[in-house]
Amino acid sequence: MLKVYSHENLAILYLAKNVQELNNIACFVKNEHYASGGHVGLSTIPVELWVADVDDASKALTILEQELSNSRQIPSWQCTNCGEENDGSFETCWKCQRSAGP
Ligand SMILES: [Zn+2]
Repeated sequence: MLKVYSHENLAILYLAKNVQELNNIACFVKNEHYASGGHVGLSTIPVELWVADVDDASKALTILEQELSNSRQIPSWQCTNCGEENDGSFETCWKCQRSAGP
């Protein structure tokens, strides 16, 4: 097991996890219970993404790099329903599933 990524935003972390799984890399999330919703003052603990197989780590990092540089070109958007900030690569709100746009 090896940590390949960490982020304080659980939505972005899960985006990274989804990308890994699309590439058949087994991975899991650590610390998510500390970072959910930013309540009880524990939200500064970053959520972590780990790969199960160390041999997958370099491939995982390459995928992450590509994915993150792609998604950076898309501005994030705020959900009109619940106000949640969503990564630009999401088409629906991760929290309430409302579609992006008007
Ligand atoms: Zn929403």
